[in-house]
Amino acid sequence: MQLLKERILKDGKVKEGNVLKVDSFLNHQMDVKLFREIGKEFKRRFAGEEITKILTIEASGIGIACVAAEVFDVPVLFAKKTQTKNIAGDVYTTKVESFTHGRVYDIIVAKEFLGKGDKVLLIDDFLANGKALEGLVQLVQDSGAELVGAGVVIEKGFQPGGDELRKKIHLESLAIVDSMDETTGEIVFRD
Ligand code: 5GP
Repeated sequence: MQLLKERILKDGKVKEGNVLKVDSFLNHQMDVKLFREIGKEFKRRFAGEEITKILTIEASGIGIACVAAEVFDVPVLFAKKTQTKNIAGDVYTTKVESFTHGRVYDIIVAKEFLGKGDKVLLIDDFLANGKALEGLVQLVQDSGAELVGAGVVIEKGFQPGGDELRKKIHLESLAIVDSMDETTGEIVFRD
């Protein structure tokens, strides 16, 4: 998606540890007009698919998923991160290893909001090692809902998550970064 790539080149900052900061328009301050274009692009890429629900993970996926949900005209559900030891009650849960924070946490969704009959599109801001999306895939499978695919705003193509997930699900990434250099700030995209 050209508009997105241009914005990343203009405002993205390459940090140490292979982290791309896009806090000025995606992860902290949010450019909702750009989100709208992102939502429309996801709609184009999943045209012809029946989608009844969007599932994302807190926190930074929520804004994008909400705007996309408006374009798709479906409800949006976000998996909550929790550190509670004993998760009880009517929830689906799985463990996710965080790329940015380097620790493992549980994610949960209430059973009442996900289940048989739902046709789910996953949405997230970043795809790196793929752990966050794999966790969401697991929750969908556990719930008996149907997984339609996943839409990612920025994939870091030099990390393994995208290639692994593509073997299993329909994955659409709007910008794939093939390399980035923290000393020069250079960012190279896959076409
Ligand atoms: P994964 O589970 O695919 O390794 O990482 C995905 C999650 O880590 C995303 O939900 C995102 O919040 C965060 N993340 C991974 N890499 C980056 C990055 O380079 N920049 C930012 N801002 N977040 C990242």
